[in-house]
Amino acid sequence: MSVIVQKYGGSSVADLTRIGRVADRVVAARAEGHQVVVVVSAMGKTTDELLAMARDVSATPPRRELDMLLSVGERITMALLAIALQQRGEDAISFTGSQSGILTNDRHFDARIIEVRPYRIEDELARGRVVIVAGYQGMSYRREITTLGRGGSDTTAVALAAALHADRCEIYSDVDGVYTADPRVVPEARHLSALGYTELQEMAESGAKVLNAEAVAFARRERIQIHARRTDDAPGDAAARETVVRAEVSPAPRRVRAVVGDAHVAWLRGPADLPTAFDSMLAVADREGVPLRAAEWTSAGVSAWVSLPRVPDWERVAAALSAAGLTVLDPRSADAVACVSVVGDGLTEEGSVLRDVLAVAGVEGCTPRAVSSSAFRITLAVSRGAADGLTRALHRRFCES
Ligand code: ADP
Ligand code: ASP
Ligand code: MG
Repeated sequence: MSVIVQKYGGSSVADLTRIGRVADRVVAARAEGHQVVVVVSAMGKTTDELLAMARDVSATPPRRELDMLLSVGERITMALLAIALQQRGEDAISFTGSQSGILTNDRHFDARIIEVRPYRIEDELARGRVVIVAGYQGMSYRREITTLGRGGSDTTAVALAAALHADRCEIYSDVDGVYTADPRVVPEARHLSALGYTELQEMAESGAKVLNAEAVAFARRERIQIHARRTDDAPGDAAARETVVRAEVSPAPRRVRAVVGDAHVAWLRGPADLPTAFDSMLAVADREGVPLRAAEWTSAGVSAWVSLPRVPDWERVAAALSAAGLTVLDPRSADAVACVSVVGDGLTEEGSVLRDVLAVAGVEGCTPRAVSSSAFRITLAVSRGAADGLTRALHRRFCES
């Protein structure tokens, strides 16, 4: 019998009515003859609310205790969905991440899955049960509860699909797949029916919230096909769309596929007294448990980016980075910056894409503070207020013609 893994995000399980609808969908999948594992997120904005509560108690909550707190959000949903399924006559059982055998490293709040031992899930599937798994969490080798970084239920779903050799991994949310830009920012964004792992990973790492970057990296390593769908589309609806994420998609080279804006970043810069400045930036980041993006060392100075959703105690970390002599620009600063990226393949094979990107910024009256490019991505750092307008302008230039 084929195994399918379905993941339902926070908006899909935001209240009891929606949990009931998810239960109906799961019953329908069972009726098609599949063994079904369902990964759930916390209801609605629960994770944000729990985080805000912890921050009300302390501006710098210990990350271990945050994981104890935040992992509860997904456990509420898993139990309610199991109850809703049993109410519908479907045999179902819920498991936490640790009961599901999800073993991680011990980086609290942003842990990485090291191994999955899904024995209990396999036993329950063999008994004919639907297994509901609390997403976004695991257990470290020290037997501590960990969470997998914001949006980490996607990672749970992909990791379980790999460990269970599932036929499909279906990710359900409030959009019917991946678009050429965030439809909330760019109403003209176009739906993509198929997308390669590399492009989606670049999009996710540039800050597109639609799928978690670690989940896409996992899918790419394990060759798991992801089907991104909208929960509110009825199962079997011929008009419903999806995005299939897989390896074989070969987009036109030198073409921009998507535009991504990210305002939830901090920019670190330091003096050019090499190599000490670079070394001390890396050492502080390491000590404070902060992953750095695009760390760079040139004769003009050192710089790096931090994705703020990955750092729950940013005030403490920012103070430590400033104390080490770094200039920290974050959303609290008067001249806060945001990143706007175009993503594609072979973007630097000719200089023209980069020049076109800069020309669009110029027409928008937007002077980039920094520019970086690779074959798959061109990123401009711009003032925060200019980011959405530039995202729309780049989308018009590259994705609407
Ligand atoms: P869930 O809670 O179900 O995991 P998320 O909120 O994490 O859902 O992701 C879905 C959201 O991602 C959408 O509401 C959309 O605004 C946003 N998004 C950002 N970039 C894109 C994109 N390129 N394509 C589609 N959705 C995107
Ligand atoms: N509930 C977690 C979050 O809000 C994980 C997830 O939804 O994927 O980040
Ligand atoms: Mg998500």
